[in-house]
Amino acid sequence: MREPRLFATLSTSDLNALSYWRRSRTGALVAWPPGTRYGPVLLEKDIPLGLPRHERRDYKLNWYTATVVPWLRHAHAAVEAEPLAAAARFAAWTSRCLCCARRLEDAHGRLAGACTGCRGRLPHDVLTALISLRH
Ligand SMILES: [Zn+2]
Repeated sequence: MREPRLFATLSTSDLNALSYWRRSRTGALVAWPPGTRYGPVLLEKDIPLGLPRHERRDYKLNWYTATVVPWLRHAHAAVEAEPLAAAARFAAWTSRCLCCARRLEDAHGRLAGACTGCRGRLPHDVLTALISLRH
């Protein structure tokens, strides 16, 4: 059996924060495509000047903990709250299979959000729900 493994979410706190996620074999959500980073970015100009090396490291760590970690939790919670809707969104926005990320080439694939190989291996109730979410 297959299950949706790719998701898309739009952060409610930052409407430009579109992000794509893939569920790893361990169940964790990782940014997709590989190597992509989402969320707030600490720019060099935003780090106070003149900090000693260890304070600079602590500043970055504290900023990450206070800014990026909550952002990631929020994005992941959005996926976990409505995984099928997030998977359908991934397929609609990328035209890729929500299980394996192959390009959706035919009308049936685009309707279900899953490629030919994955479509037949999705549970029937999941496939039905995905199709209804696309309309
Ligand atoms: Zn597929």
